[in-house]
Amino acid sequence: MVNSMEPRIIPRKEHCISRKQVSPNAVRTLYRLHRKGFIAYLVGGCVRDLLLERTPKDFDIATNARPGQIKRLFRNCRLIGRRFRLAHLHFQDEIIEVSTFRRAGVPSDSAGAEETGRNNRPSRHVKDEDGMVLRDNIFGTPEEDALCRDFTINALAYNMADFSVVDYSTGLSDLQQRLIRPIGDPYVRFTEDPVRMLRAVRFSASHNLVIEPAAWEILCDLSSAISRVPPARLYEEIQKLFLLGYARPVFSLLEKSGLLAALFPGLSQWNYGNSHRLTLLHTNLEWLDQLCRSGTPPSLALFLAALFGPSLEEAALASHRGGIPHKQALEAACAIFMKEICKTASIPKRVGILLHGILAFQHSLHRTPPQHPSSLVSRPEFADAIAYLRLGAETRRENRTPLEWWDAFLLEAPSITCSEPPTDEAPPKRRRKRRRRHRHVAKTPV
Ligand code: ATP
Ligand code: MG
Repeated sequence: MVNSMEPRIIPRKEHCISRKQVSPNAVRTLYRLHRKGFIAYLVGGCVRDLLLERTPKDFDIATNARPGQIKRLFRNCRLIGRRFRLAHLHFQDEIIEVSTFRRAGVPSDSAGAEETGRNNRPSRHVKDEDGMVLRDNIFGTPEEDALCRDFTINALAYNMADFSVVDYSTGLSDLQQRLIRPIGDPYVRFTEDPVRMLRAVRFSASHNLVIEPAAWEILCDLSSAISRVPPARLYEEIQKLFLLGYARPVFSLLEKSGLLAALFPGLSQWNYGNSHRLTLLHTNLEWLDQLCRSGTPPSLALFLAALFGPSLEEAALASHRGGIPHKQALEAACAIFMKEICKTASIPKRVGILLHGILAFQHSLHRTPPQHPSSLVSRPEFADAIAYLRLGAETRRENRTPLEWWDAFLLEAPSITCSEPPTDEAPPKRRRKRRRRHRHVAKTPV
Protein backbone atom coordinates (compact mmCIF):
# COMPACT_ATOMS: atom_id res chain seq x y z
CA MET A 1 0.00 0.00 0.00
CA VAL A 2 1.39 3.42 -0.93
CA ASN A 3 0.50 6.11 1.56
CA SER A 4 0.50 9.85 1.10
CA MET A 5 4.02 11.18 1.66
CA GLU A 6 6.28 14.11 0.89
CA PRO A 7 7.25 13.90 -2.76
CA ARG A 8 10.72 12.85 -3.70
CA ILE A 9 12.13 15.56 -5.95
CA ILE A 10 14.97 14.68 -8.26
CA PRO A 11 16.72 17.80 -9.55
CA ARG A 12 17.59 18.19 -13.23
CA LYS A 13 21.22 17.18 -12.86
CA GLU A 14 20.28 13.86 -11.25
CA HIS A 15 17.97 12.47 -13.93
CA CYS A 16 18.26 11.85 -17.63
CA ILE A 17 15.20 13.69 -19.02
CA SER A 18 16.07 16.49 -21.38
CA ARG A 19 13.60 18.88 -23.02
CA LYS A 20 15.10 17.89 -26.35
CA GLN A 21 13.45 14.48 -25.98
CA VAL A 22 10.04 16.02 -25.39
CA SER A 23 7.74 16.95 -28.23
CA PRO A 24 8.22 20.67 -29.03
CA ASN A 25 4.43 21.14 -28.88
CA ALA A 26 4.35 19.72 -25.37
CA VAL A 27 7.29 21.92 -24.34
CA ARG A 28 5.55 25.05 -25.69
CA THR A 29 2.32 24.08 -23.91
CA LEU A 30 4.11 23.51 -20.63
CA TYR A 31 5.92 26.86 -20.90
CA ARG A 32 2.73 28.72 -21.68
CA LEU A 33 0.91 27.24 -18.69
CA HIS A 34 3.91 27.96 -16.48
CA ARG A 35 4.22 31.58 -17.69
CA LYS A 36 0.54 32.13 -16.92
CA GLY A 37 1.18 31.08 -13.33
CA PHE A 38 -0.15 27.53 -13.46
CA ILE A 39 1.58 24.35 -12.36
CA ALA A 40 2.60 22.48 -15.49
CA TYR A 41 3.72 18.86 -15.30
CA LEU A 42 4.54 16.33 -17.93
CA VAL A 43 2.89 13.20 -16.56
CA GLY A 44 2.13 9.54 -17.08
CA GLY A 45 3.74 7.11 -19.47
CA CYS A 46 5.97 9.66 -21.18
CA VAL A 47 7.91 10.36 -17.96
CA ARG A 48 8.21 6.63 -17.31
CA ASP A 49 9.44 6.03 -20.85
CA LEU A 50 11.92 8.92 -20.87
CA LEU A 51 13.42 7.62 -17.62
CA LEU A 52 13.68 4.17 -19.20
CA GLU A 53 15.27 5.80 -22.25
CA ARG A 54 12.42 4.68 -24.49
CA THR A 55 10.58 6.84 -27.00
CA PRO A 56 7.19 7.84 -25.52
CA LYS A 57 4.05 7.10 -27.52
CA ASP A 58 2.43 10.38 -26.50
CA PHE A 59 2.97 13.32 -24.17
CA ASP A 60 0.40 14.11 -21.49
CA ILE A 61 0.31 17.24 -19.39
CA ALA A 62 -1.36 17.83 -16.02
CA THR A 63 -1.99 21.26 -14.55
CA ASN A 64 -3.95 23.09 -11.90
CA ALA A 65 -5.62 25.18 -14.64
CA ARG A 66 -9.31 24.24 -14.95
CA PRO A 67 -10.65 23.00 -18.29
CA GLY A 68 -12.26 26.39 -18.99
CA GLN A 69 -8.99 28.21 -18.25
CA ILE A 70 -7.08 25.86 -20.54
CA LYS A 71 -9.60 26.51 -23.29
CA ARG A 72 -9.13 30.27 -22.93
CA LEU A 73 -5.34 29.93 -23.05
CA PHE A 74 -5.13 27.79 -26.17
CA ARG A 75 -7.00 28.53 -29.36
CA ASN A 76 -6.38 24.98 -30.63
CA CYS A 77 -8.12 23.47 -27.57
CA ARG A 78 -11.13 21.19 -27.60
CA LEU A 79 -12.66 19.95 -24.38
CA ILE A 80 -13.61 16.29 -24.49
CA GLY A 81 -14.66 13.41 -22.25
CA ARG A 82 -17.56 12.70 -20.00
CA ARG A 83 -15.94 10.54 -17.36
CA PHE A 84 -12.93 12.85 -17.17
CA ARG A 85 -13.13 16.35 -18.62
CA LEU A 86 -9.95 16.76 -20.65
CA ALA A 87 -8.47 19.35 -22.97
CA HIS A 88 -7.08 18.23 -26.30
CA LEU A 89 -4.69 20.66 -27.94
CA HIS A 90 -4.68 20.07 -31.67
CA PHE A 91 -1.38 20.64 -33.44
CA GLN A 92 -0.66 19.86 -37.07
CA ASP A 93 0.67 16.37 -36.49
CA GLU A 94 -0.07 15.72 -32.85
CA ILE A 95 -2.67 16.03 -30.10
CA ILE A 96 -1.43 16.95 -26.64
CA GLU A 97 -3.74 15.95 -23.81
CA VAL A 98 -3.94 18.44 -20.94
CA SER A 99 -5.86 17.37 -17.84
CA THR A 100 -6.62 19.25 -14.68
CA PHE A 101 -5.22 17.57 -11.54
CA ARG A 102 -7.90 15.31 -10.14
CA ARG A 103 -8.44 13.21 -7.09
CA ALA A 104 -10.10 9.91 -6.37
CA GLY A 105 -13.74 10.43 -5.44
CA VAL A 106 -15.44 9.81 -2.15
CA PRO A 107 -17.09 6.37 -2.26
CA SER A 108 -20.77 6.68 -3.03
CA ASP A 109 -23.52 5.10 -0.93
CA SER A 110 -25.66 3.64 -3.64
CA ALA A 111 -24.81 2.43 -7.10
CA GLY A 112 -25.72 3.39 -10.61
CA ALA A 113 -25.06 5.95 -13.26
CA GLU A 114 -28.19 7.83 -12.31
CA GLU A 115 -26.81 8.62 -8.90
CA THR A 116 -27.09 12.25 -7.86
CA GLY A 117 -25.03 14.26 -5.42
CA ARG A 118 -25.97 17.26 -3.33
CA ASN A 119 -28.65 19.56 -4.73
CA ASN A 120 -29.81 16.70 -6.91
CA ARG A 121 -27.02 17.43 -9.39
CA PRO A 122 -25.27 14.45 -11.01
CA SER A 123 -22.53 13.20 -8.71
CA ARG A 124 -19.05 13.54 -10.21
CA HIS A 125 -17.88 10.22 -8.80
CA VAL A 126 -20.07 7.17 -9.28
CA LYS A 127 -19.36 3.48 -8.67
CA ASP A 128 -21.46 0.45 -9.58
CA GLU A 129 -22.50 -2.19 -7.04
CA ASP A 130 -19.21 -4.09 -7.54
CA GLY A 131 -17.07 -1.04 -6.86
CA MET A 132 -16.26 -0.26 -10.50
CA VAL A 133 -15.97 3.49 -11.10
CA LEU A 134 -18.49 4.75 -13.64
CA ARG A 135 -17.78 8.45 -13.54
CA ASP A 136 -14.99 10.41 -11.88
CA ASN A 137 -14.41 14.11 -12.31
CA ILE A 138 -13.24 15.76 -9.12
CA PHE A 139 -10.36 18.23 -9.24
CA GLY A 140 -7.45 17.76 -6.84
CA THR A 141 -3.86 18.61 -5.98
CA PRO A 142 -0.77 17.37 -7.85
CA GLU A 143 -0.29 14.75 -5.16
CA GLU A 144 -3.90 13.56 -5.30
CA ASP A 145 -3.62 13.43 -9.06
CA ALA A 146 -0.51 11.26 -8.86
CA LEU A 147 -2.09 8.90 -6.33
CA CYS A 148 -5.18 8.21 -8.41
CA ARG A 149 -3.07 6.98 -11.33
CA ASP A 150 -2.82 3.25 -11.92
CA PHE A 151 0.79 2.26 -11.18
CA THR A 152 3.62 3.91 -9.29
CA ILE A 153 5.77 4.02 -12.44
CA ASN A 154 2.94 5.88 -14.22
CA ALA A 155 2.60 8.47 -11.46
CA LEU A 156 5.90 10.27 -12.01
CA ALA A 157 5.86 13.90 -13.12
CA TYR A 158 8.34 16.24 -14.81
CA ASN A 159 7.97 19.76 -13.47
CA MET A 160 8.46 22.51 -16.05
CA ALA A 161 9.13 25.09 -13.30
CA ASP A 162 12.55 23.64 -12.44
CA PHE A 163 12.91 20.60 -14.75
CA SER A 164 12.84 18.24 -11.78
CA VAL A 165 11.16 14.83 -11.59
CA VAL A 166 8.52 14.58 -8.87
CA ASP A 167 7.64 11.21 -7.32
CA TYR A 168 4.69 11.08 -4.91
CA SER A 169 4.81 7.31 -4.50
CA THR A 170 7.57 4.77 -5.11
CA GLY A 171 7.73 5.13 -8.87
CA LEU A 172 11.46 5.74 -9.14
CA SER A 173 12.53 2.81 -7.00
CA ASP A 174 9.96 0.55 -8.70
CA LEU A 175 11.29 1.65 -12.06
CA GLN A 176 14.80 0.76 -10.92
CA GLN A 177 13.58 -2.64 -9.74
CA ARG A 178 11.51 -2.95 -12.93
CA LEU A 179 8.31 -3.52 -10.99
CA ILE A 180 4.71 -2.73 -11.88
CA ARG A 181 3.03 -1.88 -8.59
CA PRO A 182 -0.52 -0.55 -8.32
CA ILE A 183 -0.89 2.63 -6.29
CA GLY A 184 -2.84 1.74 -3.16
CA ASP A 185 -4.58 -1.55 -2.48
CA PRO A 186 -4.35 -3.69 -5.65
CA TYR A 187 -7.67 -5.35 -4.86
CA VAL A 188 -9.46 -2.00 -4.73
CA ARG A 189 -7.62 -0.53 -7.71
CA PHE A 190 -8.25 -3.54 -9.98
CA THR A 191 -11.87 -3.73 -8.84
CA GLU A 192 -12.65 -0.07 -9.44
CA ASP A 193 -11.17 -0.31 -12.94
CA PRO A 194 -10.51 -3.87 -14.18
CA VAL A 195 -8.84 -2.47 -17.33
CA ARG A 196 -5.85 -1.78 -15.07
CA MET A 197 -5.23 -5.55 -15.10
CA LEU A 198 -4.86 -5.43 -18.88
CA ARG A 199 -2.66 -2.37 -18.61
CA ALA A 200 -0.42 -4.18 -16.10
CA VAL A 201 -0.10 -7.10 -18.51
CA ARG A 202 0.58 -4.77 -21.45
CA PHE A 203 3.33 -2.81 -19.69
CA SER A 204 4.87 -6.00 -18.35
CA ALA A 205 5.06 -7.41 -21.89
CA SER A 206 6.08 -4.24 -23.71
CA HIS A 207 8.54 -2.86 -21.15
CA ASN A 208 9.86 -6.15 -19.85
CA LEU A 209 8.72 -5.37 -16.30
CA VAL A 210 7.46 -7.69 -13.58
CA ILE A 211 4.05 -7.28 -11.98
CA GLU A 212 4.70 -7.06 -8.24
CA PRO A 213 4.01 -10.60 -6.87
CA ALA A 214 1.23 -9.70 -4.39
CA ALA A 215 -0.52 -7.61 -7.04
CA TRP A 216 -0.11 -10.43 -9.56
CA GLU A 217 -1.86 -12.86 -7.21
CA ILE A 218 -4.76 -10.46 -6.77
CA LEU A 219 -4.88 -9.86 -10.51
CA CYS A 220 -5.19 -13.62 -11.08
CA ASP A 221 -7.98 -13.82 -8.46
CA LEU A 222 -9.86 -10.92 -10.04
CA SER A 223 -9.29 -11.86 -13.67
CA SER A 224 -12.94 -12.76 -14.30
CA ALA A 225 -13.93 -9.16 -13.40
CA ILE A 226 -12.61 -8.07 -16.80
CA SER A 227 -15.90 -9.16 -18.33
CA ARG A 228 -17.65 -6.29 -16.50
CA VAL A 229 -15.82 -3.71 -18.61
CA PRO A 230 -17.99 -2.22 -21.37
CA PRO A 231 -17.28 -3.90 -24.75
CA ALA A 232 -16.42 -0.56 -26.42
CA ARG A 233 -13.58 0.02 -23.96
CA LEU A 234 -12.34 -3.55 -24.23
CA TYR A 235 -12.25 -3.17 -28.00
CA GLU A 236 -9.79 -0.27 -27.56
CA GLU A 237 -7.70 -2.16 -25.02
CA ILE A 238 -7.53 -5.35 -27.08
CA GLN A 239 -6.05 -3.39 -29.97
CA LYS A 240 -3.39 -1.92 -27.68
CA LEU A 241 -2.65 -5.35 -26.26
CA PHE A 242 -2.21 -7.17 -29.53
CA LEU A 243 -1.32 -4.76 -32.30
CA LEU A 244 1.74 -3.01 -30.89
CA GLY A 245 4.33 -5.72 -31.33
CA TYR A 246 4.04 -7.62 -28.02
CA ALA A 247 1.14 -9.95 -28.77
CA ARG A 248 3.12 -13.08 -27.94
CA PRO A 249 4.24 -12.10 -24.39
CA VAL A 250 0.85 -10.45 -23.78
CA PHE A 251 -0.88 -13.71 -24.70
CA SER A 252 1.25 -15.71 -22.25
CA LEU A 253 0.48 -13.35 -19.39
CA LEU A 254 -3.23 -13.31 -20.23
CA GLU A 255 -3.18 -17.07 -20.24
CA LYS A 256 -1.32 -17.44 -16.95
CA SER A 257 -3.51 -14.90 -15.17
CA GLY A 258 -6.89 -16.25 -16.26
CA LEU A 259 -7.64 -13.07 -18.21
CA LEU A 260 -7.61 -14.99 -21.48
CA ALA A 261 -10.32 -17.36 -20.26
CA ALA A 262 -12.41 -14.37 -19.16
CA LEU A 263 -11.90 -12.46 -22.40
CA PHE A 264 -12.06 -15.30 -24.90
CA PRO A 265 -13.57 -18.36 -23.20
CA GLY A 266 -14.03 -20.26 -26.46
CA LEU A 267 -10.39 -19.88 -27.49
CA SER A 268 -9.22 -20.70 -24.01
CA GLN A 269 -11.17 -23.99 -24.08
CA TRP A 270 -9.91 -24.76 -27.56
CA ASN A 271 -6.25 -24.63 -26.60
CA TYR A 272 -6.58 -25.82 -22.98
CA GLY A 273 -4.17 -28.68 -22.39
CA ASN A 274 -3.38 -28.93 -26.10
CA SER A 275 0.25 -28.08 -26.54
CA HIS A 276 0.11 -28.38 -30.33
CA ARG A 277 -2.65 -25.75 -30.63
CA LEU A 278 -1.00 -23.53 -28.06
CA THR A 279 2.30 -23.64 -29.91
CA LEU A 280 0.49 -22.79 -33.13
CA LEU A 281 -1.07 -19.68 -31.55
CA HIS A 282 2.24 -18.64 -30.01
CA THR A 283 3.96 -18.97 -33.37
CA ASN A 284 1.25 -16.99 -35.13
CA LEU A 285 1.44 -14.18 -32.60
CA GLU A 286 5.23 -14.11 -32.75
CA TRP A 287 4.91 -13.75 -36.53
CA LEU A 288 2.54 -10.79 -36.08
CA ASP A 289 5.00 -9.20 -33.66
CA GLN A 290 7.71 -9.52 -36.27
CA LEU A 291 5.45 -7.76 -38.76
CA CYS A 292 5.17 -4.89 -36.28
CA ARG A 293 8.90 -4.77 -35.72
CA SER A 294 9.46 -4.58 -39.46
CA GLY A 295 7.21 -1.52 -39.62
CA THR A 296 4.01 -3.11 -40.97
CA PRO A 297 1.63 -3.48 -38.04
CA PRO A 298 -1.07 -6.05 -38.75
CA SER A 299 -4.65 -5.00 -39.23
CA LEU A 300 -7.13 -6.03 -36.56
CA ALA A 301 -8.71 -8.48 -39.01
CA LEU A 302 -5.35 -10.15 -39.68
CA PHE A 303 -4.70 -10.39 -35.95
CA LEU A 304 -8.12 -12.00 -35.42
CA ALA A 305 -7.39 -14.42 -38.23
CA ALA A 306 -4.02 -15.34 -36.71
CA LEU A 307 -5.49 -15.89 -33.27
CA PHE A 308 -8.90 -17.34 -34.03
CA GLY A 309 -8.48 -18.57 -37.61
CA PRO A 310 -7.16 -22.04 -36.70
CA SER A 311 -10.10 -22.79 -34.38
CA LEU A 312 -12.60 -21.35 -36.86
CA GLU A 313 -11.16 -23.38 -39.71
CA GLU A 314 -11.30 -26.47 -37.53
CA ALA A 315 -14.93 -25.84 -36.62
CA ALA A 316 -15.80 -25.28 -40.28
CA LEU A 317 -14.04 -28.49 -41.29
CA ALA A 318 -15.93 -30.45 -38.65
CA SER A 319 -19.28 -29.12 -39.97
CA HIS A 320 -18.16 -29.83 -43.51
CA ARG A 321 -17.43 -33.43 -42.59
CA GLY A 322 -20.94 -33.51 -41.18
CA GLY A 323 -22.30 -32.68 -44.64
CA ILE A 324 -22.47 -28.87 -44.72
CA PRO A 325 -20.80 -27.20 -47.75
CA HIS A 326 -17.46 -25.75 -46.69
CA LYS A 327 -18.33 -22.18 -47.69
CA GLN A 328 -21.46 -22.22 -45.58
CA ALA A 329 -19.72 -23.96 -42.69
CA LEU A 330 -17.02 -21.27 -42.56
CA GLU A 331 -19.60 -18.51 -42.77
CA ALA A 332 -21.53 -20.03 -39.87
CA ALA A 333 -18.39 -20.50 -37.75
CA CYS A 334 -17.40 -16.83 -38.29
CA ALA A 335 -20.92 -15.62 -37.54
CA ILE A 336 -21.05 -17.53 -34.25
CA PHE A 337 -17.59 -16.27 -33.37
CA MET A 338 -18.47 -12.62 -34.01
CA LYS A 339 -21.66 -12.92 -32.00
CA GLU A 340 -19.73 -14.36 -29.08
CA ILE A 341 -16.75 -11.99 -29.15
CA CYS A 342 -18.98 -8.92 -29.42
CA LYS A 343 -20.35 -9.72 -25.97
CA THR A 344 -16.82 -8.95 -24.70
CA ALA A 345 -15.35 -6.47 -27.17
CA SER A 346 -17.37 -4.56 -29.71
CA ILE A 347 -15.40 -5.52 -32.79
CA PRO A 348 -16.89 -3.55 -35.69
CA LYS A 349 -19.01 -5.44 -38.18
CA ARG A 350 -16.68 -4.50 -41.05
CA VAL A 351 -13.77 -6.19 -39.23
CA GLY A 352 -15.88 -9.34 -38.88
CA ILE A 353 -16.56 -9.24 -42.60
CA LEU A 354 -12.84 -8.87 -43.31
CA LEU A 355 -12.00 -11.75 -40.96
CA HIS A 356 -14.42 -14.01 -42.77
CA GLY A 357 -13.05 -12.70 -46.08
CA ILE A 358 -9.45 -13.57 -45.13
CA LEU A 359 -10.36 -17.14 -44.22
CA ALA A 360 -12.75 -17.67 -47.13
CA PHE A 361 -10.14 -16.28 -49.54
CA GLN A 362 -7.63 -19.02 -48.72
CA HIS A 363 -9.43 -21.48 -50.93
CA SER A 364 -8.95 -19.26 -54.02
CA LEU A 365 -5.36 -18.42 -53.08
CA HIS A 366 -4.39 -22.06 -52.72
CA ARG A 367 -5.47 -22.84 -56.26
CA THR A 368 -2.46 -22.63 -58.62
CA PRO A 369 -2.75 -21.04 -61.02
CA PRO A 370 -5.68 -19.10 -59.60
CA GLN A 371 -8.65 -18.03 -61.65
CA HIS A 372 -8.78 -14.30 -62.50
CA PRO A 373 -5.88 -13.29 -60.21
CA SER A 374 -6.19 -9.58 -61.07
CA SER A 375 -9.77 -9.47 -59.89
CA LEU A 376 -8.82 -11.29 -56.68
CA VAL A 377 -6.17 -8.63 -56.06
CA SER A 378 -8.76 -5.86 -56.17
CA ARG A 379 -10.77 -7.38 -53.32
CA PRO A 380 -10.56 -5.42 -50.03
CA GLU A 381 -9.35 -8.37 -47.98
CA PHE A 382 -6.66 -9.39 -50.49
CA ALA A 383 -3.63 -7.91 -48.67
CA ASP A 384 -4.57 -9.54 -45.39
CA ALA A 385 -5.51 -12.81 -47.09
CA ILE A 386 -2.06 -13.02 -48.70
CA ALA A 387 -0.48 -12.22 -45.33
CA TYR A 388 -2.48 -15.08 -43.79
CA LEU A 389 -1.33 -17.38 -46.59
CA ARG A 390 2.24 -16.31 -45.84
CA LEU A 391 1.69 -16.93 -42.15
CA GLY A 392 0.59 -20.49 -42.88
CA ALA A 393 3.50 -21.11 -45.25
CA GLU A 394 6.10 -19.73 -42.88
CA THR A 395 4.89 -20.89 -39.50
CA ARG A 396 2.98 -24.08 -40.28
CA ARG A 397 5.28 -25.07 -43.11
CA GLU A 398 2.26 -25.48 -45.36
CA ASN A 399 2.69 -25.99 -49.07
CA ARG A 400 4.66 -22.96 -50.31
CA THR A 401 3.73 -23.29 -53.97
CA PRO A 402 0.65 -20.99 -53.85
CA LEU A 403 2.58 -18.33 -51.97
CA GLU A 404 5.48 -18.51 -54.41
CA TRP A 405 3.03 -18.22 -57.30
CA TRP A 406 1.46 -15.10 -55.79
CA ASP A 407 4.79 -13.53 -54.87
CA ALA A 408 5.91 -13.91 -58.48
CA PHE A 409 2.62 -12.52 -59.76
CA LEU A 410 2.74 -9.51 -57.45
CA LEU A 411 6.33 -8.82 -58.36
CA GLU A 412 5.26 -8.42 -61.97
CA ALA A 413 2.41 -6.13 -61.00
CA PRO A 414 4.31 -3.49 -59.02
CA SER A 415 1.28 -1.27 -58.48
CA ILE A 416 -0.14 -3.89 -56.14
CA THR A 417 1.07 -3.83 -52.57
CA CYS A 418 0.22 -6.24 -49.83
CA SER A 419 1.51 -7.26 -46.42
CA GLU A 420 5.18 -7.99 -46.75
CA PRO A 421 6.97 -10.90 -45.15
CA PRO A 422 8.58 -9.91 -41.86
CA THR A 423 12.10 -8.72 -42.64
CA ASP A 424 14.40 -6.29 -40.91
CA GLU A 425 14.16 -3.81 -43.77
CA ALA A 426 11.42 -1.21 -43.55
CA PRO A 427 8.79 -2.34 -46.05
CA PRO A 428 6.73 0.04 -48.18
CA LYS A 429 3.63 1.43 -46.54
CA ARG A 430 0.47 -0.63 -46.88
CA ARG A 431 -1.66 0.78 -49.67
CA ARG A 432 -5.26 1.44 -48.86
CA LYS A 433 -7.54 -0.78 -50.84
CA ARG A 434 -10.59 0.65 -52.50
CA ARG A 435 -13.59 -0.30 -50.38
CA ARG A 436 -16.19 -2.38 -52.10
CA ARG A 437 -19.79 -2.58 -51.18
CA HIS A 438 -20.82 -5.92 -49.78
CA ARG A 439 -24.36 -6.77 -50.52
CA HIS A 440 -24.90 -10.21 -49.07
CA VAL A 441 -23.11 -10.08 -45.74
CA ALA A 442 -26.33 -10.39 -43.78
CA LYS A 443 -25.67 -14.11 -43.31
CA THR A 444 -23.15 -13.18 -40.64
CA PRO A 445 -25.13 -11.64 -37.77
CA VAL A 446 -22.40 -9.20 -36.80
P1 ATP B 1 1.28 4.34 -23.33
O1 ATP B 1 0.70 5.66 -23.80
O2 ATP B 1 2.72 4.20 -23.58
O3 ATP B 1 0.47 3.18 -23.75
P2 ATP B 1 0.59 5.39 -20.75
O4 ATP B 1 0.95 4.95 -19.36
O5 ATP B 1 1.02 6.76 -21.15
O6 ATP B 1 1.16 4.30 -21.73
P3 ATP B 1 -2.04 6.27 -21.35
O7 ATP B 1 -3.24 5.44 -21.70
O8 ATP B 1 -1.49 7.22 -22.34
O9 ATP B 1 -0.95 5.21 -20.91
O10 ATP B 1 -2.40 7.02 -20.00
C1 ATP B 1 -1.63 8.10 -19.50
C2 ATP B 1 -1.57 8.03 -17.99
O11 ATP B 1 -2.88 8.11 -17.44
C3 ATP B 1 -1.01 6.72 -17.42
O12 ATP B 1 0.39 6.72 -17.40
C4 ATP B 1 -1.60 6.71 -16.04
O13 ATP B 1 -0.90 7.55 -15.16
C5 ATP B 1 -2.98 7.30 -16.28
N1 ATP B 1 -3.98 6.26 -16.53
C6 ATP B 1 -4.35 5.74 -17.73
N2 ATP B 1 -5.28 4.80 -17.59
C7 ATP B 1 -5.53 4.72 -16.27
C8 ATP B 1 -6.43 3.93 -15.48
N3 ATP B 1 -7.21 3.04 -16.06
N4 ATP B 1 -6.41 4.12 -14.14
C9 ATP B 1 -5.61 5.04 -13.57
N5 ATP B 1 -4.74 5.79 -14.26
C10 ATP B 1 -4.71 5.66 -15.58
MG1 MG C 1 0.55 7.64 -22.96
